[in-house]
Amino acid sequence: MLTRGFDPALSVGSARPAVFRSSTYVFPSPEVAERAFDIMAGRARAEPGEEVPLVYSRFNHPNAEILEDQIVPLEHGAKCALAFNSGMAAIMTSMLAYLRPGHSVVYTVPIYGGTQHFIQDYLSLWGVHGVPVPAGQSEELDEAIRTAANLRIVLIETPANPTLMMTGIERAARTAKARGGVLVMVDNTLMGPAFQHPLELGADIVLYSATKYLSGLSDMIGGIALACEDEILRPIRSKRNLFGNILQPDECWMLDGRLTTVALRMNRQSKNAQHIAESLVHHRNIERVIYPSLLAEGQQKRIYESQCDFPGAMFSIEVKGGKAGAFEFLRNLKIGKNAVSLGGIETLVCHPKTTTHSGFTEQEFRQAGVTDGLVRISVGIEDWRDLLTDFEHAADAVPESVPVHAL
Ligand SMILES: *Cc1c(COP(=O)(O)O)cnc(C)c1O
Repeated sequence: MLTRGFDPALSVGSARPAVFRSSTYVFPSPEVAERAFDIMAGRARAEPGEEVPLVYSRFNHPNAEILEDQIVPLEHGAKCALAFNSGMAAIMTSMLAYLRPGHSVVYTVPIYGGTQHFIQDYLSLWGVHGVPVPAGQSEELDEAIRTAANLRIVLIETPANPTLMMTGIERAARTAKARGGVLVMVDNTLMGPAFQHPLELGADIVLYSATKYLSGLSDMIGGIALACEDEILRPIRSKRNLFGNILQPDECWMLDGRLTTVALRMNRQSKNAQHIAESLVHHRNIERVIYPSLLAEGQQKRIYESQCDFPGAMFSIEVKGGKAGAFEFLRNLKIGKNAVSLGGIETLVCHPKTTTHSGFTEQEFRQAGVTDGLVRISVGIEDWRDLLTDFEHAADAVPESVPVHAL
């Protein structure tokens, strides 16, 4: 990563890249401008080794090129990447590049709220049929992939948020390949490039909200799409040119500097989470701890063990006393902050039922396992002993039996 994508000679010798905020680029000759437009519009292909000049920053700019080159080695099996100005932009642009009216999309649920909204309430307006399949139901997913009419995309988010149900990527990709003409996309935001490698398991495109672990400081919004072949990203790039949702130069510069510490941060965060999750199992006011290393069910455990290198830094707990108990827990935290989002170096804690998942119907709550007492925790890089003490104190403060009508 440190040796790719950046030539100090192009930034007056500076050790870190300069930020190129220019919106347009000067051509050395009209012939070069003509050639640049032919290549950009797809009328010509660049020769191997040909320097294609920059044109205009909605299409491309040096900081996006540096970021996209540097992120490739972080993702096992990737050859190319595209940077977007949010995770939603990466997801929507990748899907819109391949979908036409009449196609269907098979997707795992629960899925990120924005993605669900996009498929159910927006794509449906354009004649695209969404087929939701509960996360972790391998047979049902196979069946949907085999039978959905005009299937174009299988979108998997694993582990699911906030219940951490695992979906087997390799099996779904095999079923999709057998059918043909189907692209498998994986939203890998939760396990990150450090712990789960969808392209090696047969996925065609990996998607990230770079807002989370990739940037890691809760100070920017961004998204990334990666693939093992340029051809797969080509139509997505052309839609990004059209939509104008490339990541801006300053954000690209911020993100490329964070890439070198993704694995360091995520390893620390995962170790922290594992210590804490495995200790909280014993707390009298915590009914259940949901964390990959604590999985008991056979198939879930097998998927986790074959698909993830480490259990990751997200876990959920079921606090006694339902909503009142969960709110009391949140109120008594001193280190963990009550906020949505995840993946930052600081610990963030939220109550999914009244925040991130508040738009769900009763049936969706039940299906997703989002209960009144569920609290989602994204563990940061603090000392795990301090965090464990904080969580234990907050759980101690939960009244042993909170009346159901207390709130
Ligand atoms: C946050 C998130 C997104 C959306 O990313 P933005 O950067 O907020 O647009 C998509 N998928 C998952 C799993 C996320 O956590």
